[in-house]
Amino acid sequence: MPPSNEERREALKDLYHQARECTRCPQLASTRTTVVFGSGNANADLMFCGEAPGKNEDEQGVPFVGQAGKLLDKLLAEIGLTRADVFVVNVLKCRPPGNRDPAPVEIENCQDYLMRQIELIEPTVICTLGNFATKLLRADPTGITRLHGREEERVIGTRAVRLYPIFHPAAALYTPANVEVLRRDFARLPGLLALGPPRQPGEEEKAPELPEPEMVAVAVDDRQLGLF
Ligand code: URA
Repeated sequence: MPPSNEERREALKDLYHQARECTRCPQLASTRTTVVFGSGNANADLMFCGEAPGKNEDEQGVPFVGQAGKLLDKLLAEIGLTRADVFVVNVLKCRPPGNRDPAPVEIENCQDYLMRQIELIEPTVICTLGNFATKLLRADPTGITRLHGREEERVIGTRAVRLYPIFHPAAALYTPANVEVLRRDFARLPGLLALGPPRQPGEEEKAPELPEPEMVAVAVDDRQLGLF
């Protein structure tokens, strides 16, 4: 039986308490102000995954609260959603000093938290923002420029999800043409959500629809009875 909303929230809180004490990356643990676990609706169908907290996020403990976050909020509003409808996380829960790229060992160290978040929230659609999240969750080095705007079904941990890579909003801040690309890619999210979850591992394939049973019975009976 799937967990109740309350159970999900409690399990996420436990995970947050673990992450808050994390020292797996000694440098990040010593330079961070807060662990930015993620925020939003624990029962969301739509999850966004960014790269790592920046300065504002590190100070406030909430993902995407700076300029990139403002653009994310605007694009969400344009498709009729708010932060309260979605859950937002990052590949890394701690800010890399000076906003440097996440190191491979840091991504590896932090991966369990993200996998557990996905397992607990059970999103239908995971929208990866930029290269780091896309490469990690696809387990493949193909870059975002080739992949953005194309959804695919992927099994992540124990869950099948609709993975949907798009550009990172920060990239659009520096290249205004990318805002339009992001907007177009965002516009497809409601349609993807409407598809519902993909078939889960181990779940039976739905039987093809049969013709009306009565019609079949009548036709068979008629033939058997020689009524033609
Ligand atoms: N960029 C990210 O990838 N994540 C944040 O939380 C903020 C900026």
